[in-house]
Amino acid sequence: MAPLDRAKFHAERFLDSLAEAPVGATADLETLRSSLKLPLTDAGLPAAQVIDELVAACEGGIVGSAGGRFYAWVIGGGTPASLAADWLTSAWDQNAGVYAASPAAAVVEEVAGAWLKELLHIPTKASFAFVTGCQMAHVTCLAAARHAVLAARGWDVEERGLNGAPAIRIVVAPESHATVDKALRLLGMGRGFDLAMEFDDRPTILCLRAGELNTGAFDDFAEIIPRAKQHNVWVHIDGAFGLWAAASPKFRHLMRGAEQADSWATDGHKWLNVPYDSGYAFVRDPEAHRASMTMKTSYLIYDDSARDQIDWNPEFSRRARGFATYAALRELGRGGIANLIERSCAHASALVRGIGSLPNAEVIASPVINQGLVRFYNDDSRTDQVIAKAVASGECFTGGVTFRGKRCMRISVSNWRTTDADVVRTIEAFRKILL
Ligand SMILES: *Cc1c(COP(=O)(O)O)cnc(C)c1O
Repeated sequence: MAPLDRAKFHAERFLDSLAEAPVGATADLETLRSSLKLPLTDAGLPAAQVIDELVAACEGGIVGSAGGRFYAWVIGGGTPASLAADWLTSAWDQNAGVYAASPAAAVVEEVAGAWLKELLHIPTKASFAFVTGCQMAHVTCLAAARHAVLAARGWDVEERGLNGAPAIRIVVAPESHATVDKALRLLGMGRGFDLAMEFDDRPTILCLRAGELNTGAFDDFAEIIPRAKQHNVWVHIDGAFGLWAAASPKFRHLMRGAEQADSWATDGHKWLNVPYDSGYAFVRDPEAHRASMTMKTSYLIYDDSARDQIDWNPEFSRRARGFATYAALRELGRGGIANLIERSCAHASALVRGIGSLPNAEVIASPVINQGLVRFYNDDSRTDQVIAKAVASGECFTGGVTFRGKRCMRISVSNWRTTDADVVRTIEAFRKILL
């Protein structure tokens, strides 16, 4: 059979198995190495055979994070239309670097970018980039920030780099995500963070949070941003999943004031349930964004009326990742997205409440949106043991975290597949463990 037919057969069998298969991996490292580490042949193999053998060798090593009972991290699944569009993206194999290399890919991003701004309540004039994930969305936004705060002091960072440049003060909210740290590191701005939310006229970049990793907490944008703006501070918001609160009438109030920021980073592959690699960067000042990313070479064809992605993206050649987002947005619509957000939050609350009220369990953080924390036996190692038992049962997948000095279990819900029945089944699994 043709390789694409084989892939479709295996993919459908996998998706059908998600409801009943163990959620965690069942094969260990040695098993996976011995089944995958095959001799590289001289002559190669027929494509269909490669696919069948790949699937067989990965058996037990694929985590059921595409299914409804994976709660360890904010991972999300793939909606049917976005998954199918993602397959087509590979089949079309476009290089979405410039309009000329794939006009449809460029226009799809232009359209989906405008839809995203509308859904997330980001100013219409903001520029955007479709990147690999929120990590690179931070890099993109903070490169624009670096450009702007230094250009305001007469320093051209694209031309001269950071050697000898005015020092930039970096202010981050406490418990910020590690990817903010890494983005700053990659951009040469280091880790000398300041946690004090007091501002003066030094060149400053402030990084705030929409949706803290453990509790889902939001910074008080309406209070902080206007104070920062009085000193021309660049305000960046990490909203990898939390930015999506803006797409829900019920949770939108958490984002009050966030529209005053200068840049926003979020993900498609988490809560929007687009397959991996999908993140979005938005920048209020398109000129700062373009200045930090554009790179013209003599052999490419540029289009003045169309949108060339290399003007906005850190990559050169790149996957046409806009198709999957475009498909998910059309499939779900405004109402479907609001429903996905609100449903996930309701499931997270029910899980935290349900597990937290079992004997020997305690709620440490009730979800603000779709994350919460539970602790067992008021003991660090016993909390880790309960988590390990839950994962070993195959009934669900949760993870541990040290939150303010205490081991806790984190519960995140971000998959469109999670049902009420999954919630009941998960609470039952913990009841058995805690008996
Ligand atoms: C996941 C996450 C990130 C990083 O996103 P990637 O898509 O994994 O690069 C950044 N911030 C927060 C709050 C996150 O949850």
